[in-house]
Amino acid sequence: MKKYTEMNKEELQALKKELDAQFAEVKAQGLALDMSRGKPSAAQLDLSMEMMDVLGSGDDLKCETGVDCRNYGVIDGIPEAKRLLGEMSEVDPDHIIIYGNSSLNVMFDSIARSMTHGVMGNTPWCKLDEVKFLCPVPGYDRHFKITEFFGIQMINVPMTPQGPDMDMVEELVSKDASIKGIWCVPKYSNPQGYTYSKKTVERFARLKPAAPDFRIYWDNAYSIHHLYDDNQDFLVEILAECAKAGNPDLVYKFTSTSKVSFPGSGIAAVAASKANLDDFRTYMQIQTIGHDKLNQLRHVKFFKDLDGLRAHMRKHAALLRPKFELVLDTLEKELGGLGIGQWTSPHGGYFISFDSLDGCAKAIVAKAKEAGVVLTGAGATYPYGKDPKDSNIRIAPSFPTLEDLEKAAQVFVLCVKLASVEKLLA
Ligand code: PLP
Repeated sequence: MKKYTEMNKEELQALKKELDAQFAEVKAQGLALDMSRGKPSAAQLDLSMEMMDVLGSGDDLKCETGVDCRNYGVIDGIPEAKRLLGEMSEVDPDHIIIYGNSSLNVMFDSIARSMTHGVMGNTPWCKLDEVKFLCPVPGYDRHFKITEFFGIQMINVPMTPQGPDMDMVEELVSKDASIKGIWCVPKYSNPQGYTYSKKTVERFARLKPAAPDFRIYWDNAYSIHHLYDDNQDFLVEILAECAKAGNPDLVYKFTSTSKVSFPGSGIAAVAASKANLDDFRTYMQIQTIGHDKLNQLRHVKFFKDLDGLRAHMRKHAALLRPKFELVLDTLEKELGGLGIGQWTSPHGGYFISFDSLDGCAKAIVAKAKEAGVVLTGAGATYPYGKDPKDSNIRIAPSFPTLEDLEKAAQVFVLCVKLASVEKLLA
């Protein structure tokens, strides 16, 4: 088929008529499908159900240091959970704090703490005239919502397949002391599924920020979330790289088992230098008497070690892979060569990033909604919900069944075609 951008007005009008008829047919089906959030499917959640039974009521519910996990105590995680999350994060357990059920919550807290109390003795951000964060775009909407909530000014930094534009990052952080952080999803990024290259990680570790309290918010949410056994991305470990570069305090590395066990009921952790973790602890010991140690114990008993985690992630991949492949095949078959969209083909994570013709994303999402398919809101992948080109859409294939996903993907490509034709005719 001819590229849409090479069609004349008559050809586009004829095409629009055809697409309008197809759209009316789809609408009449009264679909109610959801491709909006990166949630595991019910079948994925079923994979962890045995975890519900690993702690028998008659069992000794003590952790390896003899503390009764049913009671208060052990503020920063039982040792076996630190070991498990340490292996998952590729850091020494001594550099880990285990938190509660959500890493996003810990990111929010870290910003809140920096606002009210400052970072390691520096001026609290709330006392400064200006606080800024760098935001690689497109990125994770919930990161941007946190910085927006605290009134932190966000600066877009373009993403590349190797990671954020590091020339821009280096230039900005070295000159502007009001830049206090950067949001990063370094592996299988949300939404593009890109993994930062070795060079990018090395450049991050060697940053020379003007602000002593600048921190990299390294959200390694998808560290072991591969789709393929034989085609996995590799990410250089940032903490060791920062230490090597003489910048040990530069990074907070977040992780959780949300998309390993149960989202919202997993365990979260932060890895950082000892000085940073001590800073975290001063806040944490006022905030809580301790997190859920029974859940920590449950995770350790169920997964045991990194091999256990990896084996489990292979089961997730077996369920996720066909969904990614279905969406990618549909995009290729229906949109390939038409010149109206580009998309990523990740090796892991939860998302596919789609870029439409400029000025079409909102229309595509609105049309999909009209046809009964909910997509992540257009603009959500940018700070303040403002995509300057109105072109990026995040596709989340994990939650629907394969059958529903097939229908949703067909609706999506139809909406892309229709919105593109309308744009070209406008
Ligand atoms: N970070 C990223 C990049 C995510 O995509 C998500 C969930 O989609 C989260 C964090 C949420 O993590 P948690 O459930 O640990 O709060």
